[in-house]
Amino acid sequence: MDHYAVFGKPISQSKSPLIHSLFATQTKQSLEYTRVEPAINGFDSAIAQFFADGGKGANITAPFKLAAFEFASNRSDRATISGAVNTLQKCEDGSIFGDNTDGPGLVQDLLRLSIPLKNKRILVLGAGGAARGVLQPLMAQQPAILMVANRTASKAVLLASLIPNDKLTGCGFNELNSATPPFDVIINSTSASLTGELPAVELSVIAAAKYVYDMSYGDKPTVFMQHAANLGVKNVFDGLGMLVGQAAESFFIWRGVRPLVEPVIQALREQL
Ligand code: NDP
Repeated sequence: MDHYAVFGKPISQSKSPLIHSLFATQTKQSLEYTRVEPAINGFDSAIAQFFADGGKGANITAPFKLAAFEFASNRSDRATISGAVNTLQKCEDGSIFGDNTDGPGLVQDLLRLSIPLKNKRILVLGAGGAARGVLQPLMAQQPAILMVANRTASKAVLLASLIPNDKLTGCGFNELNSATPPFDVIINSTSASLTGELPAVELSVIAAAKYVYDMSYGDKPTVFMQHAANLGVKNVFDGLGMLVGQAAESFFIWRGVRPLVEPVIQALREQL
């Protein structure tokens, strides 16, 4: 049976084994998918051993996405642009291919939710690893503008500069104010929701959005989703569909079969 695994630290909370077992049942694929938690400096030896033992592919989560990027022998363009890898595949010639499916997972979910992106004004809050992986796939949807704003402004400016395009700019939260033309879509890629905090963005900026999407998720709407809804935003969504979408893209890379995401999102939602 082909063996896959997710590598991260901590890893016991990961929903990837459940998601991939649901994909395998749905698509009638025979595979095994386990969790691996290497020591903080032990990713390289753990992943090398996994492939030496016959492992076919791996998902990589925090804090090892940069180490996985270095480990890959060759990478997709989207992984190269993002500088991070969340999917590894052992190729027939023994080389290790690295990809980043976070961006496609997000874009697929936004489109599944009928959130328009082409010619729209899009704001991404946060400039960490998740933002890094989604900028290029968002730009491929041809927005009117894509702005990335971060608490630490310099990180947003640096991130935006990685994809030279006059439609993509970076700034600090303090540069977003009531004078900023309204955004159609605001995507929260900060980790603030995980600690029940809100990014310090002027209320009028959030209130003017047509769609708000938080990459975080939980058993109830995140604090950012509640904040946006309280400000009158009609369409607010969490990132559970992105989680399943990035996994579906990994599954496709490994197995050549594209699973349906909707039933898996529903199954996970019932278990949150
Ligand atoms: P990182 O640690 O790489 O980046 C964290 C980002 O959040 C930084 O931009 C940081 O700003 C910002 N931030 C943290 N706390 C606050 C705060 N209180 N106020 C404002 N900004 C804050 O994390 P990731 O980018 O890897 O992940 C971000 C989020 O995305 C997490 O919640 C993660 O769970 C989620 N995620 C969801 C996925 C999905 O499939 N649904 C996939 C990947 C990530 P600064 O630079 O100023 O410190």
